[in-house]
This record gives sequence, structure tokens and C-alpha cells, in this order.
Amino acid sequence: PAAGKTILTANQVVKRFGGLVAVNEVGFEIHAGDIVGLIGPNGAGKSTMFNLLTGAARLTSGSVSFMDRDVTKMSQRDIAQLGMARTFQHVKLRPQMSLLDNVALGAHGRTSRGLVAAGLCLDREEERRIFHEARVQLARVGLAGREHELAGSLPLGTQRMLEIARSLMSDPVMLVLDEPAAGLRHAEKQVLAELLKQLRSDGVTIMIVEHDMDFVMNLVDRLVVMNFGSKLMEGNPAAVRRDSKVQAAYLGA
Ligand code: ADP
Ligand code: MG
Repeated sequence: PAAGKTILTANQVVKRFGGLVAVNEVGFEIHAGDIVGLIGPNGAGKSTMFNLLTGAARLTSGSVSFMDRDVTKMSQRDIAQLGMARTFQHVKLRPQMSLLDNVALGAHGRTSRGLVAAGLCLDREEERRIFHEARVQLARVGLAGREHELAGSLPLGTQRMLEIARSLMSDPVMLVLDEPAAGLRHAEKQVLAELLKQLRSDGVTIMIVEHDMDFVMNLVDRLVVMNFGSKLMEGNPAAVRRDSKVQAAYLGA
């Protein structure tokens, strides 16, 4: 999509868990080529929002459109097929498998099915293509030449890069990242920020949940702020920083 085009719209999105309203009539738009931060205190509803956008959970009410399609009731797999990719708040790698195999797994509709199982019905041409792409994506995150190391042997920062490589299989339009910088050292965060900026210049649209304010403020074009399930405000980093509601709820308090 052309830079600036609206690729995702969340409209009056609500998610209830029993009596708890985890997401309360939240709406926003995401434009192609932007890095958008989703911030807010613990329990604000950020991960739930990501689950709703990616089809991992069903909306209670409201709607989501992505790439000009109503995806409100679409499966996670079908939304992924339209170009949505994600990583999770907790690392979901296979520690006993190689970097290459971990990334190649991203080719399988991002389900939990293993490549070995899926591999039984892969023809050789398809297999070659997938492993070639896995090498390309590993190189893209700076892990060229390390294909055969085991994922479990990597420091956390490198595991996060590996997860991003996996999510990049099949060239997503939009990448949704839930706390990719959590637990990383300062130098690792710098590497991650550089990669995300590189992906943006390659045309990937990014939405990111992140707690480290310096990290997120220096990275994103725009922020959506949530608090107790509701959208508190949205705007560019400077506007969010000086907003008194945000300061009271989150930043300064
Ligand atoms: P955040 O990612 O902003 O920290 P979450 O989206 O994880 O917040 O959670 C928002 C609220 O919804 C919290 O009160 C959390 O306990 C609740 N919640 C999240 N997932 C579930 C679930 N599957 N069942 C019940 N409550 C949930
Ligand atoms: Mg969360």
C-alpha cells in the first residue's frame, strides 16, 4: 500500500471478560509506513487489543478492518494471509531447534503446527523456497551466518530479533509487536530500534507495545494511549508527553 494510506481501522472495539471490560470502545487508524506505539499502564488492555486486531481473540462488539477488508470475524490465519504478522509478549521460540528452522516455521500460517509435521506435505521446491526465504529474513535482522546455532543458546535480545525474522516470513504489510524490548539491555534496544526503523523504510507498518518511554518516544511516529481499557488520547510523542491526562495516568504520576 502507498505510504499514508489507511491500512487498519479499529472502530468502537469492545472486549469483555465476564464482568471485566478489558477494551472499552477503542478506535484508531493506522497508516501505511508508520510506526505507532500503543502505551498505557499494566492491565490497560494493550495485549487484548493486539489479540483482537490479529484475530487471536473475538471482539465483544465493534469492528476492525485491515487492507480494505472487514476482518472482525476473520480467523487469525486469514488475517495473517492479508499481511498481518505479530510477535508475542513472551518469547515463543523452539529452543532446541536451529535459528533457520525457527524462522522457516513462520511460513506455516504462524500456527503452532511444527515444520516437521507440515513438512510431510511440502514438496521439495516449496521447501527450498521456504528455507531460502528464512535465510533472507535472518540476514535482514543481522543473523546471517548463524543459521545452525540453537535458538535456546541465544541471549534474549538476539531471540527477539529471531522472532522478528520469523514474523517477517511472507513479507507482511503490518507487524504487531508486544513488548519486544522488555528485558533487553540498552545496547540490545538500540539494535532493535535500528531494525524497526529499517523495516519502516522497507515499507513495513509497525504497531508496538512498549513500556520504556525513552525507547518508544524516540522510535514512533504516533502514539495511542490506553488506560483502564479506554483510549486516553492519541498523537505524536511530543503531544503525548505534554498531555496532562497522560501525565496523571501514566507518565508523571
Ligand atoms: P496490558 O497488555 O495492557 O497489560 P491486558 O490486555 O493483558 O493488559 O489485560 C487487560 C485486562 O484484561 C486485565 O485486567 C487482564 O487481567 C484482563 N484479561 C486479559 N486477558 C484475559 C483473559 N483471557 N481472561 C480474563 N481476563 C483477561
Ligand atoms: Mg500486555
